[in-house]
Amino acid sequence: MTLARYACDPALSRGRRIPEPVAPTRSDFQRDRDRIVHSTAFRRLVYKTQVFLNHEGDLFRTRLTHSLEVAQLGRSIARTLRLSEDLVEAIALAHDLGHTPFGHAGQDALNACLKAANPKSAGFEHNLQSLRVVDALEERYPAFNGLNLTFETREGILKHCSRRNARHIEAREPGGVAQRFVAVAEGAAARQPGLEAQLANLADEIAYNAHDIDDGVRSGLLSLEQLESVPLFNRYRQQALADHPNLQGRRLLFETIRRMLSAQVYDVIDATSERLRQAAPDDVQAVRQQRALVCFSDEMALQSTSLKRFLLQNLYHHPQVLQTTQAAQQVVRDLFEVYMADPAQMPQSHTERFDRPEGSAQAPGAKPERVVADYIAGMTDRFAAKEHERLKGQTVFAA
Ligand code: MG
Repeated sequence: MTLARYACDPALSRGRRIPEPVAPTRSDFQRDRDRIVHSTAFRRLVYKTQVFLNHEGDLFRTRLTHSLEVAQLGRSIARTLRLSEDLVEAIALAHDLGHTPFGHAGQDALNACLKAANPKSAGFEHNLQSLRVVDALEERYPAFNGLNLTFETREGILKHCSRRNARHIEAREPGGVAQRFVAVAEGAAARQPGLEAQLANLADEIAYNAHDIDDGVRSGLLSLEQLESVPLFNRYRQQALADHPNLQGRRLLFETIRRMLSAQVYDVIDATSERLRQAAPDDVQAVRQQRALVCFSDEMALQSTSLKRFLLQNLYHHPQVLQTTQAAQQVVRDLFEVYMADPAQMPQSHTERFDRPEGSAQAPGAKPERVVADYIAGMTDRFAAKEHERLKGQTVFAA
């Protein structure tokens, strides 16, 4: 299949930070995807969670299965729009690599710890950490730190970035992946990444909205009756019941979610095709100068927002989830405190980074609080809980 003229073409990639010969059988985006799949950070996603912790049940999504669902949705839409499936897949599989253990709770705690340890610290942002993982923290190749991915994959991974952090990256890499966040801050027209990055972002949203309903019901924290108040859910539930009047329980839930997912995929394809027709970008550079072109229709955008609001109120802020959140934050705070006070509790490969220059051929040097944050951010949920038990003698999560 030929790519659309506004797609990211691997043959026209802006390349890698350290030039490498092209692989004989794979495009540069396929190679990015393969490097991500073989990375250590990718394997850790299997034991990192978003809403529910591993010990709460084997059937809940982990960040790994979530990332696979994002890749599936993204590729499916990319194929229809003639965008680069390989690039969408690479971005989708890498988008959560920088997440701390225990989901957003862990990230907020780590951000607060960094700022308390050093008021000048840039804090912790998970998108930026994902970029750090692929740019610096993976240690697998003889000639460079990180995975040395293409510009386009890195651009997609850096979905958000504070102005301050964007300026830091821009200083090291002028005109690079952070430039669009600096430009926004300076009042220039908002600039977008390529369509594949925009698509991976929207596929992420579609995936978690759907699977958090599934996991929420599985956990018993959400009921099917409660979900009837969500217009998007109820519409497809009614439709499923009209076609299958005896459907109930989990099959009704799955059939409703399946129809909801399909409807959102078709909606994105239609709404995006229409915007592309109007904007008629000639190439990816023109895409970057436009408003976001990958989108829901106005109606679907409203329905998706109302579903998100429902999940926030009823699932993410459920007393039982908040209780786990508090325990998770305590674990992260305690670990940070112990490692800062006694760095020898960390493996030597981490403490060695304290005195090393940033551009070193080995793992990059950094201030102690950043090294500690990198170490904690890389932990899986269960490793963090085990370390906490070892260092504090407390069991925070009942097995
Ligand atoms: Mg995600």
